Amino acid sequence: MTGAAHEVKTPIFAANWKMNSGPTESRAFLRTFLARNARRPDRTVMFFPPALSLAAVRDSLRERPDILVGVQNIHWEAKGAFTGENSAPIAKDAGATHVLVGHSERRHVFGETDEQTGKKVAAAVAAGLTPMLCVGEKLEERERGETEAVVVRQLRAGLAALSNAQIASVLIAYEPVWAIGTGRTATPADASVVHVATRRELTSIAGEHGAKVPILYGGSVNAQNVRALLDAPGVDGVLVGGASLDAEGWATIVRS
Ligand code: PEP
Repeated sequence: MTGAAHEVKTPIFAANWKMNSGPTESRAFLRTFLARNARRPDRTVMFFPPALSLAAVRDSLRERPDILVGVQNIHWEAKGAFTGENSAPIAKDAGATHVLVGHSERRHVFGETDEQTGKKVAAAVAAGLTPMLCVGEKLEERERGETEAVVVRQLRAGLAALSNAQIASVLIAYEPVWAIGTGRTATPADASVVHVATRRELTSIAGEHGAKVPILYGGSVNAQNVRALLDAPGVDGVLVGGASLDAEGWATIVRS
């Protein structure tokens, strides 16, 4: 298994378009976005479009290799009879450098298990893709005081197959499920508590390698709250769904 090499500057601004924006809309979005966002050496911008829009996004970004592009999901097998799925080697060949793994919609809409996220993370790293492992508690888990236990369980399962050195090459996104697409954002203080606990766990799993892993926050981030969230201790970037779908709005967030 190889390690996925990447050097990212923090803060990281990652756009998860979910099941929005076909190739035509993606090209139009990027024309507007690129006109408003010059290259900045002090941050990293990343897009996760639908897989069928990946080529259009890559093509639109050919003059901007500083902007990274990934897919939203992969299967853990490299190839075979899995109709409708994409594998890590296929995503890599199509030009992706990154992949979301264990997004809350994969876990809670499609029933993806902790064990499956572990296999997907391992498959991504084996193919030379950088996984962004998403973790986060449901509202009832938060109310039962289980936030940290859930996040630790998801981290351990997601990273189980990696060596410590490989863990240094992944990205983590803390996304409380109750804050995704709901307009309800964790306060910077709430986010910070979990980011600090996540860092503690990463360091306990992988020592100094775990200390290097960027930890993003996601959940109803927008142009109004992004600055405060990025200023919260332990927050190295943001993963943004709804507010990344408007090119002008996303350009404003990325400039913050
Ligand atoms: C997401 O899809 O990862 C996300 C955080 O969505 P939203 O910003 O819409 O809450």
